[in-house]
Amino acid sequence: MNIKPYKVKKSPSKGWGKIFTNSRPVKLRSFKTGTVDIQLRGTLNPTHPNAVNIKNEIIEVPIMVHWVHHEEFGDYLLDTGLDASYSNDELGGITEPLAEKFIQKKDENIGFYVEKNDIKVNMVFLSHLHPDHIAGIRDLPKNIPYIVGKGELEQYKPELYGDFLKSVETFYELEFSELDIISPLGRCADLLGDGSIWAFWTPGHTKGHTSYIINGADEPILLTMDAAFIQENLKYKVAPLDYTWDSSLAQKSLDKIIEFIDQFKIRVICGHELN
Ligand SMILES: [Zn+2]
Repeated sequence: MNIKPYKVKKSPSKGWGKIFTNSRPVKLRSFKTGTVDIQLRGTLNPTHPNAVNIKNEIIEVPIMVHWVHHEEFGDYLLDTGLDASYSNDELGGITEPLAEKFIQKKDENIGFYVEKNDIKVNMVFLSHLHPDHIAGIRDLPKNIPYIVGKGELEQYKPELYGDFLKSVETFYELEFSELDIISPLGRCADLLGDGSIWAFWTPGHTKGHTSYIINGADEPILLTMDAAFIQENLKYKVAPLDYTWDSSLAQKSLDKIIEFIDQFKIRVICGHELN
């Protein structure tokens, strides 16, 4: 596997208000590739004062993929969800010690959606490298660019969770520390250089965790990815603790997102939410 830097054009630091008045011809559609059972206590960090009364119940949440179709540039995926291996095996064929269990019906895998919708994937942007976000790579071409925040590949542990990146030719890393700050989201990347798909750095869940903004003509949409698993993270203003590398950093990233939403009132889709 080759690892190269993902080149982002430096954009003169404009504010989000200005960016949203210059919307681009992009449309978002999301697919559910399976579900996973998680604990509500833990999805909201129970040590946070706002979450002390949260009940300990198991909730079943979807595992999502987002397809961004750009009228001029073509098709992009944000995360890959699950490949077809999970429809008859909840471990997806993974034999490593920390293999995770996911639930999937037939024809819910990313490869099915790509074929059915005739999606010609140009590139795949990955929010982070947890199995429920990358297992679908096994259904996808390996000779297209896969882009991930810097810090993700160093935290990747195929010997424990299984190797989903096998055969990918080239990974491109987004070096957020070199990017422009656009308040209040911090370091932001104009991924295609035309203001259509933005990435911003939301470390905490993992080291290089990335969230996105799709600046489409219908309405701009913020995708938190796993900075907020579900809407309750936003409602209670409490970041996740479970599956999370650094929960205080995760809280800081969530606070930044909440400040942004308060300011710009745009639609928000959480990482494990149907839309
Ligand atoms: Zn995750």
